[in-house]
Amino acid sequence: MTAEDRNLSAVLYGIDDLRLEEMPIPEPKENEVLVRVHCMGICGSDVHFLKHGRIGSYTLAGPMVLGHEASGVVVRTGAAVSHLQPGDRVALEPGVPCRQCTLCHTGRYNLCRDVRFCACPPTHGALTGFFAHAADYCYKLPKNVSLEEGAMLEPLSVAIHACRRAGITLGSSVLIIGAGPIGLVTVLTAKAMGATNILITDLLPHRLEMAKKIGATSTLHIRSADKQKTVKEIVSLLKCEPHISIECSGSENGICLAVLATAPTGVVMLVGNSPPEVKVPLIEASLKEVDIRGIFRYSNTYPTALSMVASGVVDIKHLITHKYPLEKIAEAFEKAHTGEDNPIKIMIYCSDSNENFTSHE
Ligand SMILES: [Zn+2]
Ligand SMILES: [Zn+2]
Repeated sequence: MTAEDRNLSAVLYGIDDLRLEEMPIPEPKENEVLVRVHCMGICGSDVHFLKHGRIGSYTLAGPMVLGHEASGVVVRTGAAVSHLQPGDRVALEPGVPCRQCTLCHTGRYNLCRDVRFCACPPTHGALTGFFAHAADYCYKLPKNVSLEEGAMLEPLSVAIHACRRAGITLGSSVLIIGAGPIGLVTVLTAKAMGATNILITDLLPHRLEMAKKIGATSTLHIRSADKQKTVKEIVSLLKCEPHISIECSGSENGICLAVLATAPTGVVMLVGNSPPEVKVPLIEASLKEVDIRGIFRYSNTYPTALSMVASGVVDIKHLITHKYPLEKIAEAFEKAHTGEDNPIKIMIYCSDSNENFTSHE
């Protein structure tokens, strides 16, 4: 076995127990491809699993490889795969549904009861050297799209699904609450979909600086717990009440603010990972005929995300602020957890090739 054939994997055994281990290289089934994983973006949900051993109703039941924002190079194809070949660079859509149920047939496959999603128990993730994945959930990257951008199609997909369900269109005035990676890709997507007025809020000024750089029309650094005062500031900055509020912080305060700020007949879109029960001014929403909607991951977004990146409509490279080889995964997760050095998206490189690792530094 050469160094290139190693299958080093980041396996989560329990709370704060992440181990680097060699795993056998998987055999692709007939409808799968074997992918040499290139890079993987650390997501808030990976950090949550590491720190809590669970997320929502998903609890770690046995050792699980982390990671779901991945891209790589096809090294082998299953017998029934004809649209991909070894050498193809691909982005991996992490959720593979049953393809048989009504939800799958109607295109809402993200809600399929039998979806297997990378790094959601009991399905292994892609923070590994070699990963076998359903070939129809791999998207070939054109030459002008890097593997890093391929990995970023995953968070971008969340934003596309949220903006679609929120009904963003030409001229929309949008409030985005929370300027973490998802809030930031939502700025990019809302803008690409025609929103002309985008205000984003956060508690951390450095995130708002980034939001401004990538196209937010205004930013609000939240300093006061007085929500009515904050709503006034929002309306004065946007010069109107937002038609659409996209809540990306997952906090009860954020959700309340979204409900209070949204214009009558508007939409509140819940995106952030929030506790199972929150106290919100529901009647306020009801009396304004504001629709509260949610999302669960995304469906039918990868082709759109890829076109957006390939055509240059959005530039997601800037959101990658830190890069680590897989060997330094503990350090990378520590940074993601503490937020030291203000990371936005941390990218892990799973291939041994140092050339790949340093070429985009
Ligand atoms: Zn993610
Ligand atoms: Zn299904």
